[in-house]
Amino acid sequence: MADLALTGITKDYPGGVRALAALDLAVADGEFFALLGPSGCGKTTLLRTVAGLETASAGTVRIGGADVTRLPPGRRDVGMVFQDYALFPHMTVADNIAYPLRVRRAGREERHRAAEDVAGSLGLETLLARRPGELSGGQQQRVALARAMAARPKVFLLDEPLSNLDARLRLEARTFLKRLQNELAVTTVFVTHDQAEALAMADRMAVMEAGRIRQVGTPAEVFRRPANLFVASFIGSTPMNLLPGRVEGEQITVAGAVLPLPVSARGLVAAGEEVVFGVRPEYLEYSGKAADGAFAGRVAVVENLGGSSLVTLDAAGQAVHALVGEGREPEPGARGWAVPRPDRALLYRDGELVVD
Ligand code: ADP
Ligand code: MG
Repeated sequence: MADLALTGITKDYPGGVRALAALDLAVADGEFFALLGPSGCGKTTLLRTVAGLETASAGTVRIGGADVTRLPPGRRDVGMVFQDYALFPHMTVADNIAYPLRVRRAGREERHRAAEDVAGSLGLETLLARRPGELSGGQQQRVALARAMAARPKVFLLDEPLSNLDARLRLEARTFLKRLQNELAVTTVFVTHDQAEALAMADRMAVMEAGRIRQVGTPAEVFRRPANLFVASFIGSTPMNLLPGRVEGEQITVAGAVLPLPVSARGLVAAGEEVVFGVRPEYLEYSGKAADGAFAGRVAVVENLGGSSLVTLDAAGQAVHALVGEGREPEPGARGWAVPRPDRALLYRDGELVVD
């Protein structure tokens, strides 16, 4: 068991691409840590640098306190699952799983025992003699996990392990992976570009943009208090309302409405300041009747999300999104009001959250 600490990690690829820019990251022992960010932000590069498959241009990688920056992959005690699984097509499932042990020159007996052990915990017992080409996507994914686990690494690195599964299988695999990690309590870095996956699975998470980390926190913290506009617009399964406004004393004028200042920004902004008012659709109370401190306008769109609907109001030319419960959906064209919760609304100044 071990923690993982990255300090000042920079990675420049030939050709002048800076994939990681002086990045610091600390993952606690036994933690399930999600690394979230759009395609191309450097997630895979970060994992490969921890695994030793890429050499950092600067900075230090520590596992369990030991500096492994200069060690080859085989001596770092990490297990990695690649996005495309990277199984050996000519080897059986058993040989694929036992491969890391062979690299370590473990004996035949030990390799077989370890492979059977891990295969058992992943429900692969009956597939040991098959080759990867004879397996479903979900089974291949489990074999890749089993291979990463076989040598009992101190740190698990999972690069978008669920992204090649279809939607239903992906949900099942989420639960399965979460339970497995709970049982093993191995320090795990889980890479995804899917914010819902990160929120659902992680103990803590980091949001990356262009080789940098923009916020670290628990899913609840990152969801409730995005630290900047990048994270605010990246997180959430419905788009967060981010509307330009102007501070007027204890109030703010935004999208034609005069609203109380968000609780978290009180005393921290001055009259006349130009800010962005942020509130998630979850935190707006929608009504068909006139209300104080509300965005007011015509209902432009109603989207059915299953148990609830996303209502888009046209409020003084700005789109304001509010979630409404089943059976309370308005008709498009109706007049509507949406009151943001002052204890959930946020202000952003120069792109950063206003908070003390
Ligand atoms: P992600 O996994 O978040 O999609 P990557 O780590 O794969 O991002 O890539 C980060 C950046 O580094 C991208 O701009 C990508 O084009 C670049 N990159 C990745 N691998 C290489 C490489 N081997 N050579 C040059 N540039 C690379
Ligand atoms: Mg990647």
